[in-house]
Amino acid sequence: MFRMTSVSTRRADRITANVEERQRQRYEIHTAYHFAEVNGQPAVRTARAVDGGGDVAQLAFGPTATLALINVGLSRRKDKAELGYLLDLDKGRWMPRPEEKETDDEPASTRHKRVIPFVEDRRNILIVDPGTAGGGPTKLSPEADQAESGAATSGALSEVALMASLEAVLKASIESEFDLEDRELDVESLPSREKRTSILLYEAAEGGAGVLRQLVDDPTALARVARAGLARCHFDPDTLEDLHRAPGATEDCTAACYDCLLSYTNQPDHRILDRFLVRDYLSRLVAASVETSPGAESRSEHIERLSRQAGSDLEREWLNQVAGAGYRLPDKAQVFVEGAGSRPDFVYSGAHTAIYVDGPHHEYPHRAARDADAEDRLFSIGWSVIRFGLHDDWLKLLAENGGVFGNATP
Ligand SMILES: [Zn+2]
Repeated sequence: MFRMTSVSTRRADRITANVEERQRQRYEIHTAYHFAEVNGQPAVRTARAVDGGGDVAQLAFGPTATLALINVGLSRRKDKAELGYLLDLDKGRWMPRPEEKETDDEPASTRHKRVIPFVEDRRNILIVDPGTAGGGPTKLSPEADQAESGAATSGALSEVALMASLEAVLKASIESEFDLEDRELDVESLPSREKRTSILLYEAAEGGAGVLRQLVDDPTALARVARAGLARCHFDPDTLEDLHRAPGATEDCTAACYDCLLSYTNQPDHRILDRFLVRDYLSRLVAASVETSPGAESRSEHIERLSRQAGSDLEREWLNQVAGAGYRLPDKAQVFVEGAGSRPDFVYSGAHTAIYVDGPHHEYPHRAARDADAEDRLFSIGWSVIRFGLHDDWLKLLAENGGVFGNATP
């Protein structure tokens, strides 16, 4: 592996036939990512898009993740097992491939080494996985189902075509929904273009516009993107009726056109892109809402862990109400807060807020005095305290503290 640290481009007024041929053939690029680490934990925010039928998609957002693009060779090289390129160590240049040699007057260098070049950078990334958590890939559309019941190869092709079409429509619809330029968002297939199971979207500029984070944090953002996607694919978003073409277009779009799925950057996929493949899946996304969990675990895993850690049935009851109404979940249960000498029932670490769910014994005077002391100590280190008493209206308290609990997502 050879990391290219100083890659730049320069304008060429003329290109040789060999260069043109290389562009046409394209390179086989593999994409790898690594989440940033904060306090030894991967910095990733996971979420699920769910509708009445269960999971529609799993999302993972990684701020400033490390992204590597690895060039393993020309797509159409004869020997697929041969990876990388020969580097001339004397001249510090790539060695021409045998069929590319233009002149014979330069003797081939004897000092050379085969390397796999890659570039690496930090980007905000979003991984969209349309499969389900357990049990095999989701049947995304009836068309995919039919194809899979046929020959194995046509099933695999259909899955690739479906994912390619989904990549195209998600990229274009996120850009249109969030007013981005065409080149502000990039998309790659994971684990590779040949075998696509998930979609990697990343912001082209370092820092980025923060759009990908919204798709995880805003429960309705992905549904809006899917709606825009249906309209883009010439379907009525409400009735799914085929409108055949974009407004103002002169010809019907049978599978894909430049108004819907085709773009300059996805040329290698043009042959397989088909708007009908994504119609049913997009319509499921339109009806789905996105549930976020604070860490790498899924929301249901997170609820399970908190429920195990909770100190009483009353606390579990509180947790059920928060989860059931779709509010933001606490990060931890029964954790000792250093500096305050107190162990709140739940904490929202990011909001520096401690939650107490008070059973009947908290109404005794000596207990109430101890609670007040703990509150004072938490205040003194900059924390807030919210108490849920036995006789309080919990849902009202949750709704009144949107800064901590977010908004209910029924
Ligand atoms: Zn079209």
